[in-house]
Amino acid sequence: MKTIGNKDRFDVVVIGGGAAGVGVSIALRHAGIENFTILERATIGASFASWPAETRFITPSFPTNSIGMLDLNSIAIGVSPAFSLEVEHPTGAEYASHLRGVAHFFELPVRQETTVHRITKPDSNFRIDTEDETLQAKHVIWAAGEFQYPQLSGFPGSELCRHTATVPSYEDLDGDDFIIIGGYESGIDAAYHLSSHDRRVRVFDKNCPWEDESSDPSVALSTYSLERMREEWFEEHVELFPHTPIESVKMVGGQYEVKALDGRTVQASYRP
Ligand SMILES: Cc1cc2nc3c(=O)[nH]c(=O)nc-3n(C[C@H](O)[C@H](O)[C@H](O)COP(=O)(O)OP(=O)(O)OC[C@H]3O[C@@H](n4cnc5c(N)ncnc54)[C@H](O)[C@@H]3O)c2cc1C
Repeated sequence: MKTIGNKDRFDVVVIGGGAAGVGVSIALRHAGIENFTILERATIGASFASWPAETRFITPSFPTNSIGMLDLNSIAIGVSPAFSLEVEHPTGAEYASHLRGVAHFFELPVRQETTVHRITKPDSNFRIDTEDETLQAKHVIWAAGEFQYPQLSGFPGSELCRHTATVPSYEDLDGDDFIIIGGYESGIDAAYHLSSHDRRVRVFDKNCPWEDESSDPSVALSTYSLERMREEWFEEHVELFPHTPIESVKMVGGQYEVKALDGRTVQASYRP
């Protein structure tokens, strides 16, 4: 078994250098904890950096410092992306650069290009295996997020569909006829950008997020998206199918065949 040197023994190991990993690491610093490290499989803010190019934050960056309130998109006390970026709705790439700047400012100890493959607890300490080394920690904070682990098996045929986490840019997608399954923030974001390039879009959702009156932002669409849905090109090119859960997707003769639970079937010709 590999021996673990003193430089690889930590009070805390944080896994993931995204919003949560960077934010919690600054909180560790503020709490006086110095012996920690962040393990990041790519670079700081990697998930944000891989959003579709056109996608922006729905939550606005707007600091109201006169009453000491932080920007909605802040991840640490005294930090506001509105100041560093001077943008109200940052893109993923902009927010990633903000996170890199914050990590640099706080001199956070990050090991980039380091993927965690396994965590075990053989005794009172955790053992963290990466491809090149083994670290030991009294505490582990898992901050590896969900974006890089999309659920790709929601219904029969979902493996034939393209998940939004794999789209580099909506403008560059081939085809002019799109079916979007899911009409919440990501689905409406995709519909907005595709329709802005004159593509036909049909959006299916098992509920009706664009008419939900809940004040819970994890249920009802943001005002940012509702505003976008009123754009002329959105109204012209996007057809909405609320309360229509999708049962399955098939590829028939080079076309997608999407079947809803109510028996309706629609076709579209785009291939991923
Ligand atoms: C399209 C989209 C729009 C969004 N808009 C908003 C918004 O407007 N406002 C808002 O507040 N939130 C928004 N969110 C949600 C927000 O992005 C997430 O809540 C946030 O990114 C979660 O941060 P995280 O640090 O948990 O995960 P991530 O940002 O995904 O960070 C996880 C990090 O862990 C690393 N990692 C993963 N696995 C490993 C491993 N095995 N070993 C080492 N490192 C690993 C990754 O490289 C990554 O850097 C949006 C999300 C998406 C996808």
